[in-house]
Amino acid sequence: MISFEKAYDIVINSGFGMDTEVIPFTDSLNRVLAGDVVSDMDMPPFNKASVDGFACRKSDLVTDMEIIETIPAGVWPAREIAEGQCSRIMTGAPVPEGADCVVMVEDTVLTSDGNMRFKGTFIKENIALKGEDVHKEDIVLKKGRIISPQDIAVMASAGHTAVTVSKIPRIGVISSGSELVEPSEIPAISQIRNSNSSQLLAQVSRSCAFGKYYGIAADNEDQTLSIVQKAISENDIVIITGGVSMGDFDFVPSVLEKAGVKILFTRIAVQPGKPTTFGMHPDAVVFGLPGNPVSSFIQFELLIRPLIYSMMGHDWKPLIVRLPMNEKYKRKSADRMALIPVTITDEGSVSPVEFHGSAHISALPDAKGIIAIPVGKLVIEKGEIVSVRQI
Ligand code: AMP
Ligand code: MG
Repeated sequence: MISFEKAYDIVINSGFGMDTEVIPFTDSLNRVLAGDVVSDMDMPPFNKASVDGFACRKSDLVTDMEIIETIPAGVWPAREIAEGQCSRIMTGAPVPEGADCVVMVEDTVLTSDGNMRFKGTFIKENIALKGEDVHKEDIVLKKGRIISPQDIAVMASAGHTAVTVSKIPRIGVISSGSELVEPSEIPAISQIRNSNSSQLLAQVSRSCAFGKYYGIAADNEDQTLSIVQKAISENDIVIITGGVSMGDFDFVPSVLEKAGVKILFTRIAVQPGKPTTFGMHPDAVVFGLPGNPVSSFIQFELLIRPLIYSMMGHDWKPLIVRLPMNEKYKRKSADRMALIPVTITDEGSVSPVEFHGSAHISALPDAKGIIAIPVGKLVIEKGEIVSVRQI
């Protein structure tokens, strides 16, 4: 049995990097950026009015000013502002030469002879200066980030319409267990529905990867082997759940070896998820996750989600908040790292959800996150600050 830290290290260093591809920037949401984005222009590209009003000289604000033109957004000013003059200007329009401020239209009145009079109490420039946000050739987005809608706006303004991203890993998902039926079926006595596969495929989608489902393998070595081989040949990562414990029909580790997988570990000192198995094949890395759906959910979050992102060149870290415990929590043995589903109270403290163990999948929808209790620690005191990892 190895520590979680050791297992994480092995997993994260096992993945191969994905190739890159160039796609339209409008298709790049949630992809990992594989090359820096450089701006082809200053932003703003000219001194720009940030309000609707009048461009003029601050030193003239004590007098009435002659209005010499109107400058709509998208039009270059025809005239320079001289002493005693102003131009009516719209938000986003270029500020004319000679002006050093734009007074808001709300702070002005038109005199009976058609001049502009400032009636405001304080003077603000209201000019966004050329290049104050970004200079031409500046890196505006660094490679390795997950592309957000805001990033897409930055690409649009920088003229970066073809974007280099990492290819998406393909993840094959297999469930093993002769007791399993598909969710659409009515289980016979002694059968249960396969909840792992659909959960894992949803976790794969949430991790911005492609999932493919390979069905249920009965607890039969030959059948499991042929499904595993097919999945390995078609994917970058293969996840098989069930069949990794100590039961008479837990064939998965031996099947993986027969398929040519080099097993790197078969036990992690975590609770839930101890029999998590991991190995490498020249075509794919392979996880054997315990069949219990809470275990498979948590081990995916802890190990596979970071691996998927790391293969795409992104250093993914979960969102973690530090909050006090709402109540004392005690466990019976401290030889494994425990992962406890928790909720966050309205007052901002952490409360474990009612949880009957790793088969209790209906406990997870109420959990806002998980906390980890390290090896060697039995008790968390009420009020102790814990790190809640968002799930
Ligand atoms: P195993 O890891 O095969 O020993 O399975 C552990 C427990 O998880 C057993 O109670 C199984 O019935 C259950 N289980 C295994 N696979 C799944 C699955 N795909 N969906 C839901 N429960 C499962
Ligand atoms: Mg089983």
